[in-house]
Amino acid sequence: MKQLEILGTRIDPASLQDCLETIKNTILLGQQLRIVTANPELIYKAEHDANLLAVINSAGLVVPDGVGVVWAARKLGLPVKERVTGIDLTAGILRESNRHGWRVFLLGAKPGITEKVIRQQSLRYPGIALACHHGFFTQAEEPEVIRQIRHFAPDILLVGLGAPKQEYWNHEHAGLAKVSMGIGGSFDVLSGEVKRAPGVFRESGLEWLYRLISEPGRIKRQVVLPLYLLRVLKQKYFPESDK
Ligand code: UDP
Repeated sequence: MKQLEILGTRIDPASLQDCLETIKNTILLGQQLRIVTANPELIYKAEHDANLLAVINSAGLVVPDGVGVVWAARKLGLPVKERVTGIDLTAGILRESNRHGWRVFLLGAKPGITEKVIRQQSLRYPGIALACHHGFFTQAEEPEVIRQIRHFAPDILLVGLGAPKQEYWNHEHAGLAKVSMGIGGSFDVLSGEVKRAPGVFRESGLEWLYRLISEPGRIKRQVVLPLYLLRVLKQKYFPESDK
């Protein structure tokens, strides 16, 4: 299959269902898979950071996270099927883990958040074995965090340390689980600590606007969005001058 790229970042044209299928096969075959959910902020950052770009592009699966990535893919004529967000993939993984009895370790977010997620998800999905650690450990504490993950022997490691920290972390600590994935602030949303955008915003591709209104502090991060749009248009209309 032709390799798809947006500003140098590889994008796999997998749907949510395709991703869940790949995850299932990876676990059944005892293989390893690292997943990156690539949003415009991460793609823009990676264009200016060769190290980060290498970490992303060496992942087993890089999925189009967000309407800005689907938009860019369509502009560039890439056959991306749908947006696959970290939170939707996490929800699908939890559902499948319950069906198959997979072991899932949750790493990240402020202390108390993942415990709350575990309490809620265990009621809903009693078939999953869940364990967790918060994401604010020091360098000195890291070996103990790794020991706990190894001891639990997860099939899936969900890492919510924020991008790109979680991407580097998963790359550096390959082998802790069969499947590892960076999921940004998804634990905050799952725990109810942060509200996800209402359906009307999600369906109209305006989730980013809802987040901006509800967390105005994010404006600093979202200023890269217009720059990202311009870069994509340049890749489309002036590909030669774009090297
Ligand atoms: N976080 C963490 N450890 C850190 C920094 C951040 O666990 O050292 C968590 C933070 O509590 C939040 C998530 O990482 O749950 C980042 O959420 P955000 O929505 O900012 O994700 P991003 O869009 O940056 O991937």
